[in-house]
Amino acid sequence: MLRIIAITNQKGGVGKTTTAVNLAASFASIGKRVLLVDLDPQGNATMGSGVAKGQLPVSVYHVLLGGADIRSALHRSQGGEYDVLPANRELGGAEIELVDLEHREARLKQALAPLHDQYDLVLIDCPPALNLLTLNGLVAAERVMIPMQCEYYALEGLTDLINTLRKVRQGLNAQIEIEGLLRTMYDPRSTLAQQVSEQLRQHFGDKVYNTVIPRNVRLAEAPSYGLPALAYDKGSRGAQAYLALAQEILSKAPVAAATVS
Ligand code: ADP
Ligand code: MG
Repeated sequence: MLRIIAITNQKGGVGKTTTAVNLAASFASIGKRVLLVDLDPQGNATMGSGVAKGQLPVSVYHVLLGGADIRSALHRSQGGEYDVLPANRELGGAEIELVDLEHREARLKQALAPLHDQYDLVLIDCPPALNLLTLNGLVAAERVMIPMQCEYYALEGLTDLINTLRKVRQGLNAQIEIEGLLRTMYDPRSTLAQQVSEQLRQHFGDKVYNTVIPRNVRLAEAPSYGLPALAYDKGSRGAQAYLALAQEILSKAPVAAATVS
């Protein structure tokens, strides 16, 4: 059955895009059919998958706004066996243009509907804002993955996101659940990271993945080659951590309905 996961945190630089690209490559490497949706006008997931964002006759923008056939917008990633629905700066205009449209929060959900038999997993890389684009991600998804750095204000930053999820749940998408909280750029020697980890466990229990993503320079280098870390340096700690995360997600029994609290 298709699983759609939105990767969201309104904070920038927490590892959303790195997670989206490397998790897509990891799921694909273990035989899953994966689509990566880039919902960020910065197009980092697009570039990081080796798709040139400058030359896109049809992108996620045209799919959301103009009703372009989603199949005509899909690209194959470079160095990872997954597909990409790419984005570029044009998507920046969507925020305003969507406002006047009917079902403006459900455009992505509608666009994905014809692909349900084609993929096992859809990962949605959201922009660093709780805006209409992110809302499209949350309405299309069944689960939300929240990457975060274990910093002092980490928990405070989660409050807005959790409140948004609650509203989405009450109105637009009653099914949405937290898939998990992912600790990124993690340094196990940092006392602060350990303390924040402890607090996360208290608040979110087993919604916090056991797998942590270490700070690893290979993860930062790979996008400049348009590759996921698995293709750039398979043995790197970063690549292996994302592979472990993919396995952790798949190994969980079909998750019972969890409340967004
Ligand atoms: P976001 O999409 O949330 O804005 P990114 O995934 O783009 O965050 O990450 C922000 C920056 O941090 C990027 O330059 C990325 O290469 C780097 N980065 C992300 N995760 C790691 C990591 N685990 N180790 C080292 N660098 C990382
Ligand atoms: Mg990003």
